[in-house]
Amino acid sequence: MKIDLHTHSDRSDGTDTPTELIENAKAAGLEVIAITDHDSTEGWKEADKAAKRVGITLVHGIEISTKLEGKSVHLLGYEFDPKDKPLLHELRKVIDGRNSRLPATLERLRGLGIDITAHDVRVRSTNAAATGRPHVADALIDLGVVKDRTEAFDRYLKPGRPAYVDRYAADLTTAIGLVKAAGGKAVLAHPWSRGSHRVLTRDRIGTLKEQGLDGLEVDHNDHGAEDRAALRQIARDLGLVRTGSSDYHGTGKIDFPLGGNTTEPEQYRRLLGL
Ligand SMILES: [Zn+2]
Ligand SMILES: [Zn+2]
Repeated sequence: MKIDLHTHSDRSDGTDTPTELIENAKAAGLEVIAITDHDSTEGWKEADKAAKRVGITLVHGIEISTKLEGKSVHLLGYEFDPKDKPLLHELRKVIDGRNSRLPATLERLRGLGIDITAHDVRVRSTNAAATGRPHVADALIDLGVVKDRTEAFDRYLKPGRPAYVDRYAADLTTAIGLVKAAGGKAVLAHPWSRGSHRVLTRDRIGTLKEQGLDGLEVDHNDHGAEDRAALRQIARDLGLVRTGSSDYHGTGKIDFPLGGNTTEPEQYRRLLGL
């Protein structure tokens, strides 16, 4: 059984519609797929319909932008109540923060002599719940300033680069609590990517487990072999579920194909209590 628990549609920064995402997952030989758009559950409904039609199991998920000691940490939430008020309120704050960052980012780019309008960016985010940096990156590609999203982030958009603007993110512990209170499961996404191993130490992960954390995404393209081995051991020692996933974004992220990393059936069942 091939299981992929972390993918994006065009409801956030992926390029497939939820229907295309499900069809592509089926074509890639997956039997279980989670849709985990950033800070939004807007793709669930359409993905549900497509999953029923093609005969694939859909796991309802989300990837929440959080902060721990000032560092960006992504949290995957699964099978929670999408109508839960406190969680929705927090997600709204994150999405509003992302949307309100856009004018400031464009201002910075203008200061660098790159003239992009909000309209140029919005045509690249038509279906998305929020217009974010990946869509600014797409506009930079359209303008011929960069060749792909990676170059756009490396040169302009990531922390420390000249067009980076900080924005609101949920507190990690609060976000875990909200997902759990809404009846869901909480898993740290790519815990050791982008330098977050400095804040997500073994001790800290232990504390997060006490606060409700269910699992760690061990197998992810941002983790090398050594990190995967170390994270697998930490998960074992702490009794956390270990997941693996592609973090697929369609053509929005190269070398992250559907099913590129997968979750063992036993871990999947443990996570969702099946
Ligand atoms: Zn992420
Ligand atoms: Zn992701």
